[in-house]
Amino acid sequence: MSRRFTGERLVLATHNNGKLEEFVALLGLPGTAVLSAGALGLSVPAETEESFLGNARIKARTAAMASGLPALADDSGLEVEGLGGQPGVHTADWAEGPDGRDFVMAMERVHQQLMAKAVPQPWRARFRCLLVLAWPDGHEEVAEGICEGSLVWPRRGADGHGFDPMFRPEGHDLTFAEMPFSLKNRLSHRARAVGILRQQCFT
Ligand code: IMP
Repeated sequence: MSRRFTGERLVLATHNNGKLEEFVALLGLPGTAVLSAGALGLSVPAETEESFLGNARIKARTAAMASGLPALADDSGLEVEGLGGQPGVHTADWAEGPDGRDFVMAMERVHQQLMAKAVPQPWRARFRCLLVLAWPDGHEEVAEGICEGSLVWPRRGADGHGFDPMFRPEGHDLTFAEMPFSLKNRLSHRARAVGILRQQCFT
C-alpha cells in the first residue's frame, strides 16, 4: 500500500533552481510549499551508487533526515543501447570539461563512440528518470519514467538542455530540442515518473 503525502511542506532534494521550477510545474501541488535543499542550506551528498535508484535514494534520504520533512529526489540520464547503456548514471560526468559542463562536447563524445564501435542505425536510446520520495521515518516511495527514442546526428534544435538536441523520442520526427517545451513535458521520462508518483502519493 503506497503512502500518501499529506504534509504542507515538501523538500526537493536539489540545488538547481531550474529543476525546482520544473518539478513544481510538473507536480502541480497547490497548497504545498516546495522548498529546495539549496534554499534550506542542506549539504550536497556524494552520488556514489551505480544505479539511478541508488543515487536518487541517497539524495532523498539525506534531505529528509536533515530537514525532518518528506523529500523528493530524482536521478536521470541517457542510456544508449549500442554503447551498452552508457553514459547511464554517468550522464552528467560525460559533460564535465575543463571549464565546467559542456554538453556539445558530451554529445560529440557519444557520436564518436557510436562511430568508433560502428553501431548501425537507428541508434536506439532512452532517457530514464528515477524518483524517490523519502520520509524522515525511513519510508520511501519510488517511481520510474522511461522515454524511448533514438539518437540523431548532427544534433538539431536550440531549445532544451543536456542531450536534448540529439534525442528524438519514439513516434516523433523532432528532437527534444526542436519541439515545444509543452510537448517535451508530456513525453519526457521525468513527466512520466512524476505522473506515476502523483497517482501513488499525491492524489
Ligand atoms: P541529474 O539526474 O540531474 O544528475 O541529470 C543527469 C544528466 O542527465 C543531466 O545532466 C543531463 O545531461 C541528462 N538529462 C537528464 N534529463 C535530460 C533531459 O530531459 N534532456 C537532456 N538531458 C537530460
